[in-house]
Amino acid sequence: MSVESILDHAKVRCKAQGGQFTHKRQIVLAGLLASGKAVSAYELADYCKNELGENIPVMSVYRILEFLQSMHLAHKLSLVNKFAACSHILDDDEHQHHASTMFLICNQCQTIKEVPLTRDIFHGLQKSINQAGFQFKNKQLEFDCICDACAARLSSDA
Ligand SMILES: [Zn+2]
Ligand SMILES: [Zn+2]
Repeated sequence: MSVESILDHAKVRCKAQGGQFTHKRQIVLAGLLASGKAVSAYELADYCKNELGENIPVMSVYRILEFLQSMHLAHKLSLVNKFAACSHILDDDEHQHHASTMFLICNQCQTIKEVPLTRDIFHGLQKSINQAGFQFKNKQLEFDCICDACAARLSSDA
């Protein structure tokens, strides 16, 4: 799927939700999509400058990322304090179909995978959390992982 068609779709979604998909917002999302992994706002600002020829101050990148999150086009990964494009931009309902999403983050190459959690598993988790006297504050679950490619690379290095 080309970045262009994803951007087109994002534009339609922003319009439907009353948000403006300005040029700078498009650039930041294009940068996120092109990087294909979790990146910090600083890395993203550098990418936009070096690869896309657009100088966007880091503070603006943060504000734009907040907008993209509100449109469900990007996710913040609190575990690593980085951001990633949603991998389901073309499927508007994807996040609504599932109780929760697991974000698997490779701690070597920062590749992200969004994996839906079934309602059964989610409710089981919720029960354990509630029994412990806590409540879910954020239904986004993030896991510190290593991807198969990095695991294979590391074991062959050793
Ligand atoms: Zn997503
Ligand atoms: Zn990896």
